Amino acid sequence: MGDDATVKIIVLGATGSVGETTFRVVQHDAGQVAVDGLVAHNNFKRAWEMGVALHARWIGLTNREAALTLMTQNLEPGPRIVAGLEAILEEIAVSPAQKVVGAMTGFAGLLPTLTAIRHGKDILLANKETLVAAGDLVRETAKVSGSQLIPVDSEHSAIFQCLGLNQPFRRILLTCSGGPFRGRNRHDLQNVDVEEALQHPNWAMGAKITVDTATLMNKGLEIIEAHHLFGVDYDKIDVVIHPQSVVHSLVEFVDGATLAQLGWPDMAVPVQVALSWPKRWPLPQRPLDLTGQALTFEPPDTETFEALRIARQAGMQGGLVPTVLNAANEVAVSLFLSRRIAFLSIMEIVKEVLDDFKDNRMVTTLEDILDADQWARHEASQVAWQYQS
Ligand code: NDP
Ligand code: MG
Repeated sequence: MGDDATVKIIVLGATGSVGETTFRVVQHDAGQVAVDGLVAHNNFKRAWEMGVALHARWIGLTNREAALTLMTQNLEPGPRIVAGLEAILEEIAVSPAQKVVGAMTGFAGLLPTLTAIRHGKDILLANKETLVAAGDLVRETAKVSGSQLIPVDSEHSAIFQCLGLNQPFRRILLTCSGGPFRGRNRHDLQNVDVEEALQHPNWAMGAKITVDTATLMNKGLEIIEAHHLFGVDYDKIDVVIHPQSVVHSLVEFVDGATLAQLGWPDMAVPVQVALSWPKRWPLPQRPLDLTGQALTFEPPDTETFEALRIARQAGMQGGLVPTVLNAANEVAVSLFLSRRIAFLSIMEIVKEVLDDFKDNRMVTTLEDILDADQWARHEASQVAWQYQS
């Protein structure tokens, strides 16, 4: 661990795509950032390597079996190994880290994130599912503990950077690459397979979020994420398709001035901005050369990509509806990735589960959220039977 001037961090989801970017950034920022703990799920080999390389005090594996396997290996001296979610939550609670990078995928990020917030740590948030499923609770908990939520998702980082002290604004414009199936219609999408859905034109990311960018549910989730991060009404959040992924998002202020943040598609910048904020640290990025680079913008096709409309509607309904949306989507995406359902069935399952949900309430406890998540996962699995081949 470094001296008192360094920022101490924990990385949740250290072995994933955002986790690997964080690893690169932290190695570069070694003088300013010190790692207290790293958390992964299965990949004990990589978690251990990273822990040793970054001189972490501990590494946690939510999968106990993975942790136990690691403990039986003939290891060089290195970080302490923490096995299982409960022990990890205790470790987060007592950690001296001031900041926690939330880069786990899916709803699994909720409990570690909430634990970190309850203990006053700032959250550098990539894990949008946490905010979609439990946005109100996360915000209220942060308000009580004084934790700051700093976006790492590239669009929200762009908005965060544009906002600075420039308030008030009248509209947020989220850019969206359009994903691998931009320009296709529903008929074209009937037989697309997992490999095609995983071919993102601009970003290399984990499988779940890549499928979400193919259905455009990722942008739908990001609408809800923006609502919570910036406390902005849904009618002030718009989406524009921008296939080059160079303009990361825009903010239109009350006087009509519009600011955007630009850069190559690389998560290193949003990760480092979140770590250094409100300062900026150097990063050896390839300079942005716009010469000969066309930047184009078009409206989204919400007929083919209904996820945008469905997610916005779920967000506007609020309460537990976004929790249900998120859980149904996670189950459906995982069935698609295991080749049990067709691409278009993902949204059919999500819609059916949302239709079947009759138990919404606006003021929600953690218990309510965990129950709604469980209910929606079960319901999605039931509904999915008719779509399985
Ligand atoms: P990956 O699939 O690449 O990585 C996921 C990480 O979460 C891994 O470290 C994995 O551990 C861990 N993990 C998976 N399941 C669990 C679980 N049940 N409990 C605890 N940990 C778990 O995902 P990404 O890095 O692509 O995405 C992470 C989050 O960031 C997502 O919410 C995504 O939406 C968001 N995001 C990602 C971007 C990107 O560029 N990738 C951009 C913007 C947002 P292990 O590997 O050890 O099993
Ligand atoms: Mg994004």
